[in-house]
Amino acid sequence: MSYLVLARKWRPQRFADILGQEHVTRTLQNAIRAGRVAHAFLFTGVRGVGKTTAARVLAKALNCAEGPAPEPCNACENCEEIASGRSLDVVEIDGASNTGVDDVRAIIDNVRYQPVKCRYKIYIIDEVHMLSTSAFNALLKTLEEPPAHVKFIFATTDPHKVPATIQSRCQRYEFKRLPLRLVTRQLAEIAAKEGLEITEKGLFLLARESEGSMRDAQSLLDQVLAFAGPKVEDEQILQALGIVDRSVIGELADALLARDAGRVLQLVERVYESGQDLRRFTRDVVEHFRNLAVVHAGAEDLLTEDLPEEEVQLVRQQAQATSFLDCERMFRTLLQAEAELGRSPLPKCTLEMHLLRLTMTEPLVSLATLAEQLQQLRKQGVARETEPGESGKSARGMADAAAQGGKSVPRARMVPTRSENESVVNATQRTRGADGSAGGTAWQGFLEFVANRHHFAAAHLEFCVGADWEGDVLRVRVPAGIHYQYLTQKGRSEELAKLASEFFGRPVRVEVNAVKLEKASPPGGDKGEEQPAADTRKAILDHPAVRQTMEILGAELREVRERFTK
Ligand SMILES: [Zn+2]
Repeated sequence: MSYLVLARKWRPQRFADILGQEHVTRTLQNAIRAGRVAHAFLFTGVRGVGKTTAARVLAKALNCAEGPAPEPCNACENCEEIASGRSLDVVEIDGASNTGVDDVRAIIDNVRYQPVKCRYKIYIIDEVHMLSTSAFNALLKTLEEPPAHVKFIFATTDPHKVPATIQSRCQRYEFKRLPLRLVTRQLAEIAAKEGLEITEKGLFLLARESEGSMRDAQSLLDQVLAFAGPKVEDEQILQALGIVDRSVIGELADALLARDAGRVLQLVERVYESGQDLRRFTRDVVEHFRNLAVVHAGAEDLLTEDLPEEEVQLVRQQAQATSFLDCERMFRTLLQAEAELGRSPLPKCTLEMHLLRLTMTEPLVSLATLAEQLQQLRKQGVARETEPGESGKSARGMADAAAQGGKSVPRARMVPTRSENESVVNATQRTRGADGSAGGTAWQGFLEFVANRHHFAAAHLEFCVGADWEGDVLRVRVPAGIHYQYLTQKGRSEELAKLASEFFGRPVRVEVNAVKLEKASPPGGDKGEEQPAADTRKAILDHPAVRQTMEILGAELREVRERFTK
């Protein structure tokens, strides 16, 4: 007996055996039960998902000697003849090779005659979208007034190419792409029945390569069996399919996320040496980062259908250790690399350069994470400010001392080291004014109060270098310049008085004074202009707010600038 390919040997013979298309098979069975079977069907879906198989089962179910029945008996003469392709009443036509009007004419001429043996004459036209326009037109006439004993079943991978006039005369059924888990399960069943030794991981590799097509998966299994015999090692599958072990994909992702350039290059070398198509490999890595993003989106369930459990675990771990933004950037760069690989004369170098570029970037932190960190910082900062022992070191103290002493106030610019230009946050340390006489934290409270009522006023009041009470008058000192100008605009003092009265719970007048701050002459001569004195730097580094900023955001002090110029 000649070797029968697995796809044919294990072709489903009943609706119940067609996997993953229950929405179609159940509807068809219900129609048969109810005796309301349409005269023309259009089965759509990617290749190898069971369209022609379903068409044949339907033909059998309708023509079965025991039928029409929801399932064919698969034992009667009609069923057997249809299954083996010998039936005179069930005609299968490949639309791809019979595209002309004459081919269709031959069918139409036969439509008039009664079936030879069966209940119905059934025409199954595969890849129907390949028919020519004139062929479709010829077919249309028959579809408009079909004889009662005729059924048409059209199958297509490309329904858009089927004219609307044809589509509207058919009952349309959409076949789904099969989840890899389902293909794997089916392959496992076949392997068990065939007495093959093959791991689940190996079967998954085959299912992946087939991209959700059962027929392709079975053909690949055939191919591997021819190569390896009945005892199949994972390594043999990789060789037969010309792919690398999928663990390399996860390893590369690991190396990228860890910014390990050396490891990245080693892995590319390994893939290159194995002879696998680099573009194909890149696509797999792109997909891997897509999977990480899916986990970030909280849709992990989507992965379990298409990935083996161990890979889902890896994806979960990697997703936890990285940010969505970082995944998204990897994805984008790799996608770009994939496109370039297609036209690059040096695909390996192209891929390497893209990957190296990624290892040179800093991991991206989401704004939400930064905001959270800042919030934490602020809370700690406020808590610290209320501690009496710390007041001497607080920003207020520094600002007032500076203002009173006529010295300039240094401003530290903090640059978080763990972020890139896209998410750089300048955690500018604001030296806030108002000393104990203005109520200390009361001033802080007042600022927050104003911020909620009058955003712009608060923004300028932030630059206050000192404030004190004189009876019911709150004297606020701000640097001469835009802040002073804004706060003394017409009508502003009434606004401020109203806000202050409301906040302090009594009638208050606000007086805004300009302070001219002079630059301190640096003790170290001219060089000091560029590099602030060491003690200033030390004072900044000792400041609790600065310390916390550096600690929480992982920032470093890069530059100390004069806050006010002459
Ligand atoms: Zn039968």
